[in-house]
Parts: sequence; structure tokens; C-alpha cells
Amino acid sequence: MGKNKVLIIGGTGYLGKRLVRASLRSGYQTYVLQRQEMGVDIEKVELLLSFKREGAHLVCASFNDHNSLVEAVKLVDVVISAISGVHIRSHHILLQLKLVHAIKEAPNVKRFLPSEFGTDPARMKNAMEPGRVTFDDKMVVRKAIEEAKIPFTYISANCFAGYFLGGLCQPGFILPSKHHVSLLGDGNKKAIYVDEDDIAMYTMNTIDDPRTLNKTVYIRPPKNILSQREVVEIWEKLIGKELAKSSISDQEFLANMKGQGYAEQVGLTHYYHVCFEGCLANFEIGDGAEEACRLYPEVSYTSVEEYMKRYV
Ligand code: NDP
Repeated sequence: MGKNKVLIIGGTGYLGKRLVRASLRSGYQTYVLQRQEMGVDIEKVELLLSFKREGAHLVCASFNDHNSLVEAVKLVDVVISAISGVHIRSHHILLQLKLVHAIKEAPNVKRFLPSEFGTDPARMKNAMEPGRVTFDDKMVVRKAIEEAKIPFTYISANCFAGYFLGGLCQPGFILPSKHHVSLLGDGNKKAIYVDEDDIAMYTMNTIDDPRTLNKTVYIRPPKNILSQREVVEIWEKLIGKELAKSSISDQEFLANMKGQGYAEQVGLTHYYHVCFEGCLANFEIGDGAEEACRLYPEVSYTSVEEYMKRYV
């Protein structure tokens, strides 16, 4: 444990930067892809340099140069992709497939974690348009990985806390109101919220664990499986005040969605499945998959209440 070499792709992103830091904290030899296309994006460059100061190795490569990707993945034992899930059909898929093709040429790679980190796409075969693009794309990548016989772990991280708790589970908000909340339906469907740093730490625990080889790992912190109403109650307790509440029905929600742009509709579809259908918590994990909090009880995760204190 601790000596593997890990390459993180998308290391300056929202989740990626947390993966880099968790990798360094876990004592892995950490490599971060420095994309040539970053150009003069000073924020990204600063972040990369801060990783370097903390002990990471920066590796130059480009998604437009297959050989550079092959050279990069040849340096390591484990590759983790955290590239954007941007909702442009085929964008995410294309980048990830390029990565799969590179890893195929690097038999040294003992584990690949593609950019998943959300709802398990294998359970979303009946998802609605246009949001299903996210799940369909991730399934195409899974198929390519499995056909190439690349050892993998898929992380199903449920709701990133920053997006869901910040907005009291309302799409379009990332800071909680102290006055009003709109409940999605009756607000009683359970979802699962995970601090992004905890996602990163659990992810790093899986990468050389034989129990997670070729498996899906769900992150389900038991205390963080809560309905929207329960999240609101926690917030109300923290601010010592009850919010005014209204409610939006599933029909209204879907009707409002119609006039929005494509990317917004993709996001709203995801909220629909999570908040109206309860797609994250309405199944047992069963055999053939693992749950991170059971595998790594020593990781002390952040509870919803603890997370929400930042907004008070
Ligand atoms: P970001 O949007 O922060 O992007 C991550 C990285 O993707 C960027 O930093 C960049 O890497 C890379 N990237 C973006 N565009 C390109 C491009 N054109 N070419 C090459 N690389 C590119 O991603 P997130 O952290 O938000 O998402 C990571 C994963 O998490 C996704 O799979 C997403 O679906 C999932 N997710 C899950 C959520 C949940 O609630 N469960 C919420 C949000 C995301 P670089 O560092 O090289 O610049």
C-alpha cells in the first residue's frame, strides 16, 4: 500500500484537484496530466504548480497526440480520469475512449478508474432524454474498457455535496436560502450526499484493493442518506429558523424543463431521477459490487450537518 504510481487526468477540475490532493495524502507517487491545450489559463497553471510543490509530478501530454498519452500512462500503475462530464454529446466519450486506446498499449496499468463519480449508469437504462446522454456515454466507455480487458473500478459517488446540499437539493442553486425552499414533489425521496474530499479519499482507497478489482464501488455514507425534507430540517436547525416552503410537482418540473437550453435540460433530468424517483437509494447494492463505507470504516466521512455548517 502507498507505493503505487498514480496518474490523474483532469487534475485541475472540481473533483480532479481533490483526487490529486488525496493521492498525495495517501502517499502514492502522484502524476498529474498537464494538457498542452491549457495554454495560458493561469488558474490551472497555478494549481498545477501548487501540486508540484506538494510533491506531484507533472506530465505533459495532449488528447490530440495519441503517443503522448501512451507515454504518460506508461509511467504509472493506476490511471484515474476525472475529466468533465460536460453535456455535449460525444465529447466526454471521445476523450475517454482516447484514454482507453492509450491504456491498451500500456500493460503496466493495473487499474483504470474512468470518469464516473455519479449515478451508476448501468442502472439508468430507462433514463429520460436528454439527460440519458451522460449514462449512455459512460456505458460506451465501460464497454471499451471491458472489451480491452483493462482492470477497472467504477466509482458511483452519488450526489456531490457542493451541488446538492448547497442548493437544498434545488437545481439552479448552490447556496442555501435562509427564507424559502421549493420542495421537489413531497420532498421525501431519499438521496445520498457525499463531501467531494471524501469521494476523493474513498476513491484512493480502492485503487490497489483486490476487493474492488473489476467492480463498481458505491459511496453510501449511512448518515447521509436523506430526503430533501431532512436536508432542509438540518439547515433549519443550523440557522435556528424555519423556511417557507412551496412544492413543485413532477409534471410542473418537466413542463418547466422544456423551454431550457440543452445543458440545463441534461442537468434537470438528473435531478428528476434523483429527487422525484429516488434513483440513488431505491436499490440494494447486492452481490458483485461493493460499498465504500463498509470497505473502509476507518475513513471518517463528513456528515451532512457538518458539511452544511460552512453556509451558516
Ligand atoms: P470539471 O468540469 O471540473 O472538468 C474536469 C476536467 O476535465 C478539467 O479540469 C479538464 O482537465 C478536463 N477537460 C475539460 N474539457 C476538456 C477537453 N476539451 N479536453 C480535455 N480535457 C478536458 O469536471 P467535474 O469534476 O465536474 O466532473 C468529473 C466527473 O464527476 C464527471 O464524470 C462528472 O460526470 C461527475 N460529476 C458528478 C456529480 C455528482 O453530483 N455526482 C456532479 C458533477 C460532476 P485539465 O485539468 O486537464 O484541464
